[in-house]
Formats: sequence, structure tokens, C-alpha cells
Amino acid sequence: MDELISLGLPTVAGLTVPVADAESLTDPDLAMAAVELLQQLAGRRLAHGERPMLVRLTASAPVPVAGLPPDLPVVGLAPHNRDAVMKVIARDRVLHEVWGTMLRSIGEHGLGVAGAAMDDLMFDVTDPCEQVPALLELIAAEAQAPFPDDPAGQLAVAARAMLARWQTPRAKRARRTQKLPADLPLALHVQALVLGPWDLSGFGTATSRDPETGAFRPTGTFYRGVRRSAPRPPRPEDLSAVPGGAGLLESALLTLEQHFAAPAALDFELRDGELALLSARPERAAGLAAVRLAVDLVNAGARAERAAVRQVRPADVQELLHPQLRLTGTETELVRGLPASAGAACGEMVLSSDAAVSRAAEGVPVVLVATETTPADLPGLLASAGVITAAGGLASHAAVVARGVGVPAVCGAGGLRIDAASGTATAGDRTLCEGDMVALDGRTGAVYTGQVEISAARPPRELETVLGWADTLRKLGVRANADTGRDARTAVELGAEGIGLCRTEHQFLGERLPLIRRVILAADPEAERRALDALAEAQREDFRELLRGTGSRPVTVRLLDAPMHEFLPAPGRAGDAEAEERAEELREANPMLGVRGVRLALLHDRLYPAQAEALFGAWLDVRAEGVEPELEVMIPLVSLPEELTAAARQVRAAAEAVAARAGIDVSAVPYRIGSMVETPRAALLAGELARTAQFLSFGTNDLTQLTYGFSRDDVERRVLEPYVAGGLLAASPFERLDADGVGALIEIAVQRARAVRPDIKLGLCGEHGGDPASIELCDRLGLDYVSCSPGRVPVARLAAAQATC
Ligand code: PEP
Ligand code: MG
Repeated sequence: MDELISLGLPTVAGLTVPVADAESLTDPDLAMAAVELLQQLAGRRLAHGERPMLVRLTASAPVPVAGLPPDLPVVGLAPHNRDAVMKVIARDRVLHEVWGTMLRSIGEHGLGVAGAAMDDLMFDVTDPCEQVPALLELIAAEAQAPFPDDPAGQLAVAARAMLARWQTPRAKRARRTQKLPADLPLALHVQALVLGPWDLSGFGTATSRDPETGAFRPTGTFYRGVRRSAPRPPRPEDLSAVPGGAGLLESALLTLEQHFAAPAALDFELRDGELALLSARPERAAGLAAVRLAVDLVNAGARAERAAVRQVRPADVQELLHPQLRLTGTETELVRGLPASAGAACGEMVLSSDAAVSRAAEGVPVVLVATETTPADLPGLLASAGVITAAGGLASHAAVVARGVGVPAVCGAGGLRIDAASGTATAGDRTLCEGDMVALDGRTGAVYTGQVEISAARPPRELETVLGWADTLRKLGVRANADTGRDARTAVELGAEGIGLCRTEHQFLGERLPLIRRVILAADPEAERRALDALAEAQREDFRELLRGTGSRPVTVRLLDAPMHEFLPAPGRAGDAEAEERAEELREANPMLGVRGVRLALLHDRLYPAQAEALFGAWLDVRAEGVEPELEVMIPLVSLPEELTAAARQVRAAAEAVAARAGIDVSAVPYRIGSMVETPRAALLAGELARTAQFLSFGTNDLTQLTYGFSRDDVERRVLEPYVAGGLLAASPFERLDADGVGALIEIAVQRARAVRPDIKLGLCGEHGGDPASIELCDRLGLDYVSCSPGRVPVARLAAAQATC
């Protein structure tokens, strides 16, 4: 009330008796003083004249609590002024209902009359106009004194009733169940209830934002007449029915929004055509409303851009950019997994990549359900509306690829058992057959059976405005992880300043897998050369597309990091006996710790030169089209500085060979060489790496895996979920960057690398690059940029700005 008055908004005349003094209102002398004061404030006499005034007693608590005693709305109404009041509002029955309900409450809690006796009476005498005199008689008999007929006397017993009702064992129990103190105090508001003709009276609630569009539009309900409860609550009408129009409500809501910097909600009443606010509160802004409000507040001069950027939650942005399930509460949840890729999907369940491709080709939306996915499943993944895996964590193959291509995904839904032979997926006692409808929510990790409606993503115009402000505030650069021209274009459209990671092995997923397999399994140098030529040719085209999609921006191309198990053929599928034997030889007990990344390249020393030549060749091709990206060639999974120097030598030689063939000086090809920091040893030796590397990029998926010794592929469900549930961990370190361990390694690396090469560029390209809390840590650690999947770029832009303000 104080705030409403100081904002100059219309309120009812009234006074507040604070918690410390609430008891005093039960003293008739002090109640008399309150009534005097109220008459002065309202400029009217209570219960007198042609426009009589009554008193409403209302309770409030210091914290939000359910179960406050209901208002006592017509204090001061008595047989001697009844006719004058009736004449004004001309609704006998309604007024008597309200009066009777109030007498019933005061009788029980203020005067000790048995509630059951009054209930019996009200059951027997059904006409409210007859109930009131009968109740007054019963109360007088039971309380051995007539019910007071003066406003002050009534106010004192009403206050006593309200405070006593607050102290009943039932009310205390209700507070305990809300985890609130049983002795929570109560303040009382004594308000002037100005009476007026029915048509010019009413009450209601209004909020400032349209729930559908989030735009400023007062929305709410208006009830004509006087406030009353069951059995016959009034019929709600739209705000447009408010006599005199909703203009005043609109300006009150605007004032309140600017005051709260949040959507406003208010309770109001209208008496005799006069509008008064009874209460107001800020509401949590979400989704569209959050973004639109932030921009409206800046445009109105009520907030600075910085404050607007601070007030939009990254989760809201994420929600606006992706389709969402329209849940009705009646859906059947099949299982829950990890929210691995944002958005929502619904479609026919398919259990293989091939089935996904063929059903999707018939125009049927499908959801690919698998125990886990492998590089061979890419075509199915791209054809699907969504992906669900039973195994696999947030940094597993399915999760990383789905995020990269913007397909909603739930991973690690451990309760799901897939039986490809019978074409079924089972969770608990429910079994779905291929072709049954299934829906997934990539925001919560929930999977539902049956058809669920989907609402399309609707980023409003204002989102770009907020993100534009964020761009001016943030220190961290934001790039994207993109493997194809299509992904790069999406990333740039969403505001990426470049590509922070192109995983070249991702260019060989699906049907192009044999191109890598042939290199790995080559029987002799000649076969390897032919395999490499084919790989390089395919790659040159891919790189051209990638560079065109990125335009004249920096592009970090990571040379091949192909964990063996993802790229070797399944046993018995290598083709011939010799290849089978070589594949068997190459199988490893710990492929993530085996012949990966730079290690494979140093064992096949034509591999990186072939890739690098394809890249430089593609650069020359697009330069001819007027695009001049800044190339950054990155070496993966380094743990020895010597690995980096050896690989860097290969890359430099490739650049020189390409330049020589093109007849240009190699200095005309703008490229840098850098290293991923994915092993703890690389972090600790970052100073040494910086002697060769012109940039470092923290691959925090592997760095987390290797720092904790947690498998990124399947530890989530088995270990991390129980750890989080048991309070051992606050969140999965694959989702939120671990500040104490992994963060400490990064801090050491940053300091050691900069000591050797002060202008070294430092980025992060693990999945943490799209997580707001991790982005904040990256800002604190002084990195130059983060790189995340294209769909998370807007979130990262906002989070990077919020890290600074
Ligand atoms: C990483 O390890 O963080 C990384 C970006 O590389 P990948 O996920 O491809 O192993
Ligand atoms: Mg890695």
C-alpha cells in the first residue's frame, strides 16, 4: 500500500495495523480511533447518509502464505443502516449473503459461538435475507450480548475473529506444511468500503502482459457487484466491461511494471465508479514476456540497457529459439533422460537409422530411439525430428551431434530397453512398438507416449535487440561449433563471430564413413595413398562449403580426431579377411585413451598433410569468390608438446606445397596453428605448447573426462545422477564446468600460455561453451571466446554479457 501511494496510484482510503500492534485493534477504544481516522481519510461518515461507507478488514502476512483468513467485508452494516445501504446497491440478496458469511465467521472466532449451530441455522433458513436476523439472534443468545451495531464495536470483534482464526490448530498446521513458522504474525488492514450502485461497482484482477504474446496488454477479470464467495460467486467478465473503461488500469499497470521492472499484477475494486487498487505484486517474467518487457522498459527510459540484459534469463532465450511441447498435464511419461539437445519433437518411433531415413522420406515425422548412436547413424539422425538414447551422456556422440545439427534429443534414458529384433522399446510396464507415437522434451529430458502437440519456435523481434545490447557489453567472443556449410550459415545467422571448432571427423559420418575406414585399414602405402586422396577430395568440397558459410571470419578446423571404436567396422563387417584381421588388431580396450587425435596422425603421417592441403586448397578456391576466412588449424588430443611440433611441421609443409602449386607466397595464406587442450598434461604444459601454438582451445569434454576419470559416454546415469541426487555433486561436470578442478587446470594453462605468448588466443570449445554458468567461469578465467553448437549461440551471447554485468 505504501508503495502504491508513493507511486501516486489510486488506493482505497485505509490504515494498516502492523503485526506488532494487530492485537490492539481488538480494544474497542482503539478500534474507535481507527474508525475516526478512516472517516477523516475517506472524507465520509461511516454507515451514514445517502452514500454510506462500510469497513473492510483484510489480513496480510510478512511472507506469501496460503490460508490467510478471508476478508470481513461489510463491518459496520447493522439493522439500523441496512435500508440505506440496500437503497444504494439495490441487491438485497447478494448483500445479505455477504453479511451472513461475515457474521458466521465473527460469531465463531470472535464471540465463541459454536460454528455447528450457525451452520444448522443456515441450512434450515435458506433465504439470506432471513438468515441474517436469525443469525444475529442466535449470536446474541449464545454470546449473551447483542452483536455490536456500531462500526467501532464491530471492528474490534472482527479483528478478534480474524486473529483467532489465524491461531486455530488447523491454520497452524497448514503453515507448518508450507514450511513456515506456526506463529507467523499477521497485519490488519482497515479499509473504507465506499458503496455505490451495482452497475458502477465491482472488483477484479489484472496483469500487464498478454500470456500468449508477452506484449503489454492488460488482461484479467472483472466481477460486477460486491466481493462474495460460494454458493453464488459472480460471473467473471472481461476487463473491457469495467465501467468507465480500462484506461486507468492500463496506466496503473504501466507505472507498476516500470516500478517493479517485472510484469505487474494487481487487485482492484470499483466503487461508485471510482477505481482503487487493493494490492499489487511483480510477477516472474518468462519467455516472450521477459524479452518484450526488457525492451519496453529501455524504450520507456525506465531501465538501462545493461539492466535489461541482466534481467532476461538465458533459459528464456533458449525456449524462444526452439519448438516446445504443448503439455496439457494428461500425457503419459514413459521415461526420463538427460536434456541433451534443446527443442521438442513428436513422431513415429523408429529403431534404426535406415528406418528413420525411409519413413522420413515418405513424409512421416520420426523419432529415432536407440541404445546409443554411432557415426554410421548420422543419416537417420538428420532425418529424424528428434532422438532418444538409452545410454550416453551429455558429451556422448548422439548428444554432441544432435546439438550440432539442431535436432532435439534426450540421452541416457536409462529406464529404456530397446529390443531391435522384436521392434519394441520398453520402460517399466509399458512397451512401444515401432510406428507408435512418441514425444520428447529436450529441455527437461522427459519422454512421453502418444501424440503431443508442438508449438513452433517464435523468437520475437525484441530478442535481436536484447542480444544486440548484449554484444556491446560482453568481453567474451562467441563462436560456434559447426561441421558443415549449413551449420556455419545457421551459426552466423544466430550471431556467431566465427567457427571455434569444425570436427573434421564429423564430415565422414554416415555413408562417408568408409573414406576414413579405408585410411585406417589400408593394407599398404599405395592403398593408403589412394584412400587419402579420396578423403582429401571429399574434404576439399566440404571445406569450401564451410568457408563459404562462415564468410570472412575466423574458422578453427580441427584435424581428424577419430576414436577407433567409432570408426572401425563392426566385427565381421570389414569386407575381406585381411581387413577383418587389421580391424581386430586395431580394436582397443580403452578407445577414448587410445589411438585418437594427433596420435593417429603421427602413426599415419600422410593424414594431416592431406587434410591440411584440402583446407588450404579450399581457401584458395573461396578466395577467388571474394571470401577470405582466417584459417586456424587445430591439433587434437595433444599431451606432449613434441606431438604438436611434429603435427605443426606437417601442416606448415602442406601450406607451402599448396602455395607453391598456386604460385603464391605462403605468407599470403592467413593461417595459424593451434592446439586443443584436452588432457591435464596439455593444460599443465600450456607454456610449452604456446611456443608452437598461436592459439589454444580448451576441449572441456575430454578435459573433464580425463581430469575426473569419468567416462563422458556413460558415466552420467550410473554415477553422476546418484551423486547429484545424494548431494555429492551440485551438477554434472559435463554440463557445468567444474571450477575447482577443471577450472583450476584452465587457470594454470591460461597463465602459463600467456607468459610465453602474451597475445595467444584462448578459447573453449567443449559442450560447456553453451552453458551460462560455465560461460561466466570462462569470463572470469579471462578466455577470449567460447564456442558452442549453433543453436546455443544466442544464449551464449546473452550469458557472456551477463558475466560482465
Ligand atoms: C572436447 O573434448 O571438449 C572437444 C571439443 O572435442 P570432442 O568433443 O570432439 O572430443
Ligand atoms: Mg575432445
